[in-house]
Amino acid sequence: MYICMIAAECAPMAKAGGLGDVVHGLSRELIRQGHEVEIMLPGYDCITPDSCSGTGAQPLRYEFRFRDEPMSCRIQSVESCGLLCHLVTPESEDCFFERGRLYGEPDDPERFTTFCRASLEFILKRERQPDILHCHDWHTGLVPVLLYEEYTHRGLTRPRVCYTLHNLGHQGIAAPRVLSDVGLDPHRVLTSDRLRHDADPALVNLMKGGIVYSNFVTTVSPRHAEEVQHTELGCGLQRTLRTHGAKFGGILNGVDYDTWSPEGDPWIPRQYSSNTLGDKYHNTTALRTRLRMALDPKPLVAVVSRLDRQKGAPLIRHTIDFVLAHGAQFVLLGSATETALHETFRDIKVRTADNPDCHLELHYDEALAHGIYAAADLLVIPSVYEPCGLTQLIAMKYGVVPVVRNTGGLGDTVFDANYSNRDFLERNGYVFQDYTTQALESALTRALGLWFDHPDYFRQLRLNAMRCDFSWTEPAERYGEIYESLVD
Ligand code: ADP
Repeated sequence: MYICMIAAECAPMAKAGGLGDVVHGLSRELIRQGHEVEIMLPGYDCITPDSCSGTGAQPLRYEFRFRDEPMSCRIQSVESCGLLCHLVTPESEDCFFERGRLYGEPDDPERFTTFCRASLEFILKRERQPDILHCHDWHTGLVPVLLYEEYTHRGLTRPRVCYTLHNLGHQGIAAPRVLSDVGLDPHRVLTSDRLRHDADPALVNLMKGGIVYSNFVTTVSPRHAEEVQHTELGCGLQRTLRTHGAKFGGILNGVDYDTWSPEGDPWIPRQYSSNTLGDKYHNTTALRTRLRMALDPKPLVAVVSRLDRQKGAPLIRHTIDFVLAHGAQFVLLGSATETALHETFRDIKVRTADNPDCHLELHYDEALAHGIYAAADLLVIPSVYEPCGLTQLIAMKYGVVPVVRNTGGLGDTVFDANYSNRDFLERNGYVFQDYTTQALESALTRALGLWFDHPDYFRQLRLNAMRCDFSWTEPAERYGEIYESLVD
């Protein structure tokens, strides 16, 4: 099967969160399973040269129509971690991908709809047509719309579209001009059963377009597939998802264990496995030393997260005070896009600057993330909603016990040490239900209590977590089956 991934992120070249990990990990596993995979990615100026290498091919240039004018586009093909990626750079005065960051620009809808059109134009011009276009999140919602409204009529008849929803909190709501910019007729597609935003009929919902026009739609865990159809976690798309329920399902994300495994992790001071778990403590000591934290025998509680409402920022704040008051240490690696939240956490950082049991790093740092997973005892994820969540899966591989709220993929992957009805050896963390400080405290109390009072049981819980297999093998097979079902 010849698959073309079209996405706004692919680790390590362009990663803001789990989307980048998923496009990278799923693509690599599909290749391992015998598929041919290529990736279309915006040619962001912030892609660092050390994250990819040239293929020797000259950049390709072509034109397509944008805002009724010819726009020229450059494709640079590169290789990154064994993946062939085509970096798409529309050349216009807007400098769409020369902003020094991936997202958060006022013209994000225009940036990514242009990317969709430029990608399809490139695919149309190539000799061979992919069997599958696998699109991800709102950024690429317009790909199936443009495919079926325009490109099949221009000869792009082979590909079928699989569309994966990673985060319904961001749907690409925009003014209808984004449609006419790329040559779509708003009168035709801006209807309630197509791209019209249900909450405001004057606006376009790009994710809704992706759902309606794709041949199959997935989200990233079975639990979340239910939640988004039947609860407010559908963020207004419940009805559309139920209408298209026959072509919708949840497939749990995997983790690329070539990148995330303490046995072979080049980023961590001391590699270890479940057989050499004692070596994990070298990493704990190294992290404490690096962050100038006390070298005391205390549990190390960590958070590695984007800092926003989805991730439960108020409960993360509460975690800090609670664990410090209960004899533990706390380390946070977090990046906030909202200024107000950044300032809230910066204030905590200032307030705790002299506390040797607490350290906050408020930026994005891939290497430090590896160091924290290798060092920590507990990882707290108190999300309001979590489509899948990768940090708990990564944490478990590193023998870190997750403390999570029971939502989405967190509920599908973490089984409570005390209350799960699973066999003891399958229990791998702590789970709380309500989005309240009391529920969080109760789970943290149980987790810290086990660390202090029953170290042998805590060690067993770590081993249970490390034994879990969240590799991409099975999820990629499921995607392979979906692709097969879509092609003739
Ligand atoms: P998201 O909703 O952000 O996609 P996931 O749990 O699916 O959440 O994936 C988060 C990914 O981003 C993980 O690989 C995690 O290690 C990484 N990550 C999150 N915040 C940071 C940060 N500040 N620095 C480095 N890596 C981070």
